[in-house]
Amino acid sequence: MQKLSNYINGNLSAPQSNSYIDNYNPSTGKVYSLIPDSDAADVNIATAAATAAFPAWSATPAAKRSEILLKIAQLITENLDNLAIAESTDNGKPVWLAKRVDIPRAASNFHFYATAILHHASESHRMEEGFINYTLRQPVGVAGCISPWNLPLYLFSWKIAPALAAGNTVVSKPSEITPMTAYLLSELCIKAGLPPGVLNIVHGYGHKVGAAITSHPDIPLISFTGGTKTGAEIARTAAPMFKKLSLELGGKNPNIIFADCDFEEAIKTTLNSSFSNQGEICLCGSRILIEKPLYEKFRDELVKRTAKMKVGNPTDDSVKLGAIVSEQHMQKVLSYIELAQQEGGKILCGGKRKIVEGFEDGYYIEPTVIEGLPQNCRTNMEEIFGPVVTLQSFETEEEALQLANAIEFGLAGTIWTENVSKAHRVAAQLKSGIIWINCWLVRDLRTPFGGMKSSGVGREGGWEALRFFTEPKNVCVKY
Ligand code: NAD
Repeated sequence: MQKLSNYINGNLSAPQSNSYIDNYNPSTGKVYSLIPDSDAADVNIATAAATAAFPAWSATPAAKRSEILLKIAQLITENLDNLAIAESTDNGKPVWLAKRVDIPRAASNFHFYATAILHHASESHRMEEGFINYTLRQPVGVAGCISPWNLPLYLFSWKIAPALAAGNTVVSKPSEITPMTAYLLSELCIKAGLPPGVLNIVHGYGHKVGAAITSHPDIPLISFTGGTKTGAEIARTAAPMFKKLSLELGGKNPNIIFADCDFEEAIKTTLNSSFSNQGEICLCGSRILIEKPLYEKFRDELVKRTAKMKVGNPTDDSVKLGAIVSEQHMQKVLSYIELAQQEGGKILCGGKRKIVEGFEDGYYIEPTVIEGLPQNCRTNMEEIFGPVVTLQSFETEEEALQLANAIEFGLAGTIWTENVSKAHRVAAQLKSGIIWINCWLVRDLRTPFGGMKSSGVGREGGWEALRFFTEPKNVCVKY
C-alpha cells in the first residue's frame, strides 16, 4: 500500500514516529494509502528547516521567486488529470469537478500570486514639513498554514502561494482526511526547483501536527481554514504569543430569493449552491429564504430537480454528487437530518444514506431538502456541511434580513432579485463577508475573501493576502 511522506527541508521523509494513519477512499469505504502520523518532533525539524531557509528565500528577488512559483503552476496544469483523480479518490468529489474546479484553481493560485508579487508596491507619505515616510512590507518569517479537507489542494495552495510569493517560508499541514494532493504537490515542488526548507509539508492529525504548528514559538504567523471550534482553539493558543492570525471558518449561508427574481437562474444556481461538492463548500447556501408569493413554486421546482440529481461513483461523469468525505462526517450529516425531523422539519426529498451499486460501503447521502423549521432551531443555526438545505419563507425585506442575519456565522450569502436598488440595499445590510447578487461562487482572486462573526477573522485574497503575509514597517526620513 502506498505510504505518503512528509516534505521537509526539500526531502520526502518518513515521520519520526515511523507510524502511519489509514487513509480511506470515501467512494468505496476502503483504506487505500497510509499517511505519516507526524508529531511535534517533525514540526520542530520542519520549522528549523524553514527558519534556516528564510534569509535566502526572503532575499531572493521577487522575479526569481515568481519564476519558481510559475513553474509549480505549470506542473500542476501538466498533471491536471492525475491530480484530479487523486483529489477525487481522497475526497469523494466527482472527478469532473476536480478537473474543472479544484486543480485549475490550485494552478491559478500559484499563477496569481507569482505575478501579483511583481506588482506589489508599498505606500509613501510625504509631509509638508520636510519629512517623507515610506512603508516597507517585509515577509514575516515562517508562516504556519493549516487547511481543511473539502477543497484540499485548492485551499492548501490558496495559503501557500501568497505566503511564498511574499518571501516567507512555510510549515504547512493539509487535512489528514485528504492528504494526497498536498503530497503530490511536494513532488512537483522538488521538480520545480523550490529550494530546500522553503516549503515544508507535515502530515498528520490536527491535535498533534496542527497544535505543534500553532504553538511553535518560531512560527509568528498562522493562516488557518477549517471549523469554527478549531479556529477558536487556535486563537486561544496564538493570542498570548501575539501571532498574526487569519482564520477562515464555518458558514451557514442564506440564499435570499425575492419574488421578482429571474426564476430559472435562481433555481439553477440554488441547486448548485446547495449541492456542489456534496454541499461541502463553506460558501454553499444552506438556508434558502424565499419570498412568500414565490415559495410554493420555487419549493416544488427545487425539490423536483433535486430528486433527479444523480449520486454515485465519483469517476462517472454523469454523477452530480459523489461521496461524503468520511464515514464520521456522513454520520454527522445524517444525524442532522434526524435532528431536523425531531425539530419538526418535513423532509421533501432525500433524507437518507444512499447505497450505490458496486460501491456499497461508500459514504453517499441523497441530496436533501427540508421545510417547516423555525430559524432558531439547531438545524437552522448550526453548520451541517453536507447536501442538506432548509427552506423558509419571508414576507418583507426586513424579515429576510432578520432571518439571514440571525445566526452566529457571517461568511457568504446570495440575493436574487431583478430590482437593483433592493439588491444593493440588502447586500449592504447582510452581515457576511461575501455577497453574490444573482450569481454564486464567481471568484475573482483580487477580491477580499473571508467572513464576519464566527466565520472568521481577517481577509485573504488579492492584496489582502499579501498584506497579511507581510509586516508593514514605517520608515520616516528627514530631508
Ligand atoms: P477542522 O477544523 O476539523 O480541520 C481543519 C484543519 O485543522 C485540518 O488540517 C485539521 O487537522 C486541523 N486541526 C484540527 N485540530 C487542530 C488543532 N487543535 N490545532 C491546529 N490544527 C488543527 O475542519 P474540517 O472538518 O477539515 O473542515 C471543514 C470546516 O472548514 C467547515 O467548518 C467549513 O466551513 C470550514 N471551511 C471554511 C472555509 C472558509 O474559507 N471560511 C473554507 C473551507 C472550509
